[in-house]
Amino acid sequence: MNEIKMNKIVNTEKIVNLLSNYYPVHVMEDNYTGNPYKALVSCLLSLRTRDEITFPVAEKLFEKADNPYEMVKLSYEELCEIIKSINYYKTKAENILNISKILIEKYKSEIPSTMEELLAFKGVGRKTANIVISVGFQQPAIAVDTHVHRISNRLGLVFTKTPEETEFKLIKILPKKHWRTWNQILVLHGKATCKPITPLCHICPIINYCNQVFK
Ligand code: SF4
Repeated sequence: MNEIKMNKIVNTEKIVNLLSNYYPVHVMEDNYTGNPYKALVSCLLSLRTRDEITFPVAEKLFEKADNPYEMVKLSYEELCEIIKSINYYKTKAENILNISKILIEKYKSEIPSTMEELLAFKGVGRKTANIVISVGFQQPAIAVDTHVHRISNRLGLVFTKTPEETEFKLIKILPKKHWRTWNQILVLHGKATCKPITPLCHICPIINYCNQVFK
């Protein structure tokens, strides 16, 4: 039984329009759009690491190796040295080298574009796979991270316990044309305004479409 009172209609069309105008949406797009390998590697690097730390490291790495062939030329130690400022760099180095090797051996150095194949790589979860599909291949997919999960619930658009559950609900609710954008705008919104502990509702541009559900 749902005891939460829902007074406002969560108009996703309006929310997308308002937030797209409010934030500079294309930060990650500019860097990795249409390049699934870079999208994959940067996403692997970014897990549990802040963007401000991840992006410079990713750029430094891509100067040396921006494809599987160049990547496997790096030794494990060399790769660790390049990415050592990010969290869990040893595991990430191992996964990146391992995936690059498999890409060469099994996929002629191309990134596969299906969820099933992407999830078979060690270290790749649904969020990473969805980013590869949406950013790298520019196909509709909804990458749900902590911001997307939290805000979709606060809006009263979904009532879910896990990011995975949120992804499956959003797939049913959101028009396909907004799948890619939903991630971009909510990540920016989550960092700047709808923060985890202290959401800045008083300056929020979408307050008229938000039920402010705080669990
Ligand atoms: S900041 Fe407040 S009003 Fe805006 S989306 Fe978050 S919970 Fe809703």
